[in-house]
Amino acid sequence: MNAYVPFSLTHLDTTISNPQQDAAVNFDTVVCFSHLRWDFVLQRPQHLMQRMAKQRRVFFFEEYIPCDHPLPYLEHHHFPDSGVTALRPRLPHWWSAEERNEGLKNLLDVLLMTIREPKPLLWFYTPMMFGFSRHIDAAAIVYDCMDELSSFKLAPPELRALERDLVAKADVVFTGGYSLYEAKRHLHDNIHPFPSAVDLDHFAQARTGDPDACADQGQIKGPRLGFYGVVDERLNLDLLRQVAAARPDWSLVVVGPVVKIGHDDLPKAPNIHYLGPKKYAELPVYLAGWDVAMMPFAINEATRFISPTKTPEYLAGGRPVVSTPIVDVVRHYGEIRAVAIADTAEAFISSCEQFLQARQEWPDIQKEADQLLETISWDRTFSAMVRLIGDSVVNRTAQSRYKPTDVLADRRIAKPTVRPSNRRRHYDVLVVGAGFAGSVLAERMAADSGKRVVVVDRRPHVAGNAFDHQDAAGVMVHKYGPHIFHTNSQNIVDYLSRFTQWRPYEHRVLASVENKLLPIPINRTTLNGLYGLSLQNEDEAAAFLATRAEPVENKRTSEDVVVSTVGRHLYETFFRGYTRKQWGLDPSELDKSVTSRIPTRTNTDDRYFLDSFQAMPLHGYTRMFENMLDHDNIDLQLGVSFQDVRKEVSADHVVFTGPVDEYFDYRFGKLPYRSLAFQHETLDQRRFQPVAVVNYPLQDVPYTRITEYKHLTGQVHAKTSISYEFPCADGDPYYPIPRAENQAVYRRYATLAEGLPDVTFVGRLGTYQYYNMDQVVGQALATYKRLAARDEVHLPTRATALTPALANSA
Ligand code: FAD
Ligand code: UDP
Repeated sequence: MNAYVPFSLTHLDTTISNPQQDAAVNFDTVVCFSHLRWDFVLQRPQHLMQRMAKQRRVFFFEEYIPCDHPLPYLEHHHFPDSGVTALRPRLPHWWSAEERNEGLKNLLDVLLMTIREPKPLLWFYTPMMFGFSRHIDAAAIVYDCMDELSSFKLAPPELRALERDLVAKADVVFTGGYSLYEAKRHLHDNIHPFPSAVDLDHFAQARTGDPDACADQGQIKGPRLGFYGVVDERLNLDLLRQVAAARPDWSLVVVGPVVKIGHDDLPKAPNIHYLGPKKYAELPVYLAGWDVAMMPFAINEATRFISPTKTPEYLAGGRPVVSTPIVDVVRHYGEIRAVAIADTAEAFISSCEQFLQARQEWPDIQKEADQLLETISWDRTFSAMVRLIGDSVVNRTAQSRYKPTDVLADRRIAKPTVRPSNRRRHYDVLVVGAGFAGSVLAERMAADSGKRVVVVDRRPHVAGNAFDHQDAAGVMVHKYGPHIFHTNSQNIVDYLSRFTQWRPYEHRVLASVENKLLPIPINRTTLNGLYGLSLQNEDEAAAFLATRAEPVENKRTSEDVVVSTVGRHLYETFFRGYTRKQWGLDPSELDKSVTSRIPTRTNTDDRYFLDSFQAMPLHGYTRMFENMLDHDNIDLQLGVSFQDVRKEVSADHVVFTGPVDEYFDYRFGKLPYRSLAFQHETLDQRRFQPVAVVNYPLQDVPYTRITEYKHLTGQVHAKTSISYEFPCADGDPYYPIPRAENQAVYRRYATLAEGLPDVTFVGRLGTYQYYNMDQVVGQALATYKRLAARDEVHLPTRATALTPALANSA
């Protein structure tokens, strides 16, 4: 058996800290399930498993072969060159599908028992084999999805369901190209594109080889246009026929096995030569004899997602390539001169002709291709995959051992107690509220002005509404709904970056309307999707909206802004129901600022925010707040309200970030706030929805949106956690309600506040403003600057002036 080689753990996802993560990456055996036989054609599975076999014992589990023997058995074919053992199950030919499944399951169990492998790594190329192997307790499950197999000719009907199950259970998914990645990325939280790579040295032999070295090819007169690979329904046979007919002076050489189609279906002509399958070792020898390499693929469902390995191989062999427009070929190679894309027979012929005529330019063209090839190698691909698998094994072990803890008990900030009431304590500053407003001011006062600060919050945690934590399953969630940090202020980013690193994240939201998921804010994709249009550019989208928009003379309300831009139907579809639910008011009763937050676009940019900086704190908001408040001059009392400490703690100055009306005992009446009830759930699946937030504008759906947190945090976890938001009138005050009459009441409180020089009101609740997090940070920094300038707050001895950059930020 091969020596145990631990996988590198250097790429371990450290976003979620977990004490169990030091578990060893422990498996010796890989069982690779493949629909392609080991010694058929040397493709992606062979390249990767050969490399794997240098580190681990590799069994390559192939498709069963029906036989006359009454008992099932496993043939072991050991391939000493690679160290891989191919397993060929033999099953009685009269067995039913159920009997076959059961038989294969038993054969696999017996194998693992005999080799004493308790937890192998399972690696799938075909979901069809997941049916009989899903019960295995694996170190991790890898699905290396090379193709959209279900679109292939003769694909079994149960393939789709089995693939769904496999994806749901896989710890990591690789795709054979970018198109496939894009098609599947919404299905898994740990999915990575790995387009096909190339053994450069092997194919480079074609550059110097004798063009007539092979007996069968040597007799064929040039110029030769060559293709090697599997000949099946993915080839455009008609194109081959047309090229051969149009250019009888050229020879078309086809190397490879003919599969799923009959030999009779192949185009026949004196200048088309089928040489049959050749060994991997021989391919460069054939390649050396070609003038141009061809990829005459049909453009259909079966080729929509392919990323042909032969493209880089042909280029490594020093051949120019003419290909039909396969998406991933165009995407990765379309820009280089060594690859011509041709979508008709005429274009194909003309591209081949150009290459044949431009031989003197070839060294130049090849240089450009070589630069691209340098970045593509199976060794690189393999080591990147191995790193991800190492992480997955560790993650799986950690998650299986995860024990939920009290969300606060394991944090550095212990659950606080109220200080003894008979001992009055004095501070320079009392900060009420440990959200953004309170924490920024406390940090500035303590760190920049040397003040002794006490921060109290009636909640049992820091971070205010931005509080995040691991739930019972170990999934990071935001207790008070999704918080996405976005800003255009570099100064605010610089300030917060003292307390956190960032994870880039761009927020995308879909709205569930008319049984479709469409981007919101409304953009061109939304319009095309909703109305079945094909608006091509911004002008067309703008012209369409102009036909719908209803002129509104004086835009005052949230209804006015939307109707005047997109018309009544879009307004009713996306805005009216959502807003009525969210605010308990019709948009016509709300200030225009509310729906103005979601401006319509005529392009296809589907990001929710357009700010220059969009990211999430790498280790979460709570950690960022803990770092902010971790200062010798700051005492923190959680689970303690202002009312509790008012008589026990004295301070020269109070910073109040709670509701301003509460501070004044509702003297002018209650300021209205909108509240939310959150229903959090953990699901036993990796992905729930394609984006972090899906909005439900329909009024008869009781919630406004569903959030899936793993999109925000990037956490990889076998489960996923979501939350539903139900807007309500009573509960914690979350949203000041922007209406002129509420502003009038607030003005009265603000006037009272101005008369209290020792109390400063800040934040969303303290100043009754519908502010985002960055705006609150900006407001708090500006407030500090103002207070610091006042003598009674500023201590010149300790002060290190707020940097001009920060001071100007607000
Ligand atoms: P808070 O975070 O509300 O903090 C105030 C704190 O004061 C609270 O912890 C409270 O317990 C405490 N407190 C109040 N009264 C007292 C008292 N009497 N005694 C003791 N403690 C008291 N912004 C964004 O930029 N991006 C987003 O994606 C985003 N999403 C949001 C989603 C939701 C569901 C909500 C509700 C808000 C969202 N926001 C978002 C806005 C963001 O939450 C606020 O801008 C930010 O949290 C305001 O910070 P703050 O310090 O002013 O208030
Ligand atoms: N809105 C809507 N439909 C949507 C999204 C938003 O009607 O699909 C309206 C709604 O009134 C909402 C406002 O636009 O309150 C602002 O949305 P945003 O996402 O900015 O709200 P927040 O993040 O503050 O909850």
